[in-house]
Amino acid sequence: MNLIRVEGDFDAFAAFVSDGIALLNPEGIVAGWSPAAARITGLDRVDAMGRSLDELFARVDPPLGFALVPQPLLIFTRDENRRALHASALTIDGGWLLSFGQQQRYEAIEQLKSEIVAAVSHELKTPIATIKAFATTMRANAEATAADHDEYLATIEEQADHLGNVVENLLLAGRVDPEHLLTGRTSVSLDAILDDVAERLGPTKAARVERNANAISISCDPHLLAGAIAQLVENGLKYSPESATVVVNAEQDSEGTTIRVADRGIGIGNDHLPYIFDRFYRVESNLVSVTGGAGLGLYVARSIARAHGGTIDVESRLHEGTTMTLRLPVRA
Ligand code: ADP
Repeated sequence: MNLIRVEGDFDAFAAFVSDGIALLNPEGIVAGWSPAAARITGLDRVDAMGRSLDELFARVDPPLGFALVPQPLLIFTRDENRRALHASALTIDGGWLLSFGQQQRYEAIEQLKSEIVAAVSHELKTPIATIKAFATTMRANAEATAADHDEYLATIEEQADHLGNVVENLLLAGRVDPEHLLTGRTSVSLDAILDDVAERLGPTKAARVERNANAISISCDPHLLAGAIAQLVENGLKYSPESATVVVNAEQDSEGTTIRVADRGIGIGNDHLPYIFDRFYRVESNLVSVTGGAGLGLYVARSIARAHGGTIDVESRLHEGTTMTLRLPVRA
């Protein structure tokens, strides 16, 4: 492409492209600045024309170099928000064509990232604070009886398990391909899996779970499957009144096994149902909420079901309750 021609056609060309476009001459001076570039950078055309990037921005990372294919750049604005703009640069006749990406997309990602960090830190901080508080109480309270100590230790254990689950969910959520979740299958009774689930929940929560699963045997990764069921039960309890129970039913036929986890809790509105299995999706708009949670549980549970060739579906009515149905096919 000839630079002169590009300069001549720049305005028509730039108006045609939705990303912000800038043209720099071989000296690195702005020779073209599209309306979208002005919008994204916050710098008007008249201010940008005839200036170098160093004059316009706080930092360009990496500095412009020869680029036969578009090179990604991060450009930091000089305004008080110090925004990081994503751009790419391509060498044209010794000069450069710069393209600034659609900012909203990056802002949405940045926003999501900070919400995730906030939610995850909150999930980690609460149990750590509880563990610390109970350990300190144990040390400080000289009059505590052996029974008191047992109670403190039970809470510490419960919170440590919760921490373990949060970290495990984060690790599982990071494994993109569900196929890789499954390390091996064994044939186990659903009862044994539900015992494991009860252990993960701890005695207080396990007491609120009704089990109806008779003599069912499943070929699965028992550790993963217990994790998925525990997640569904945990949600059923979390999104229900304190005293409410959650019912786990299971049945098996020639096609496979169906496990239903039903609660009579707050339910999920129709507008949220399509998204609840998405990574980091939470119904409460504020991620750091009273109920806690990073929006990973259902994503991980569904990944585990899929890793077994199965599915999880939801049926829910607002203020009435939710039933999660986990189906595992007979192994081909
Ligand atoms: P979280 O960590 O927020 O619980 P999940 O992925 O487990 O994340 O669930 C996603 C969202 O789906 C939750 O924020 C909650 O609003 C909703 N949800 C999940 N299970 C239930 C349930 N049994 N009853 C009501 N709402 C639920």
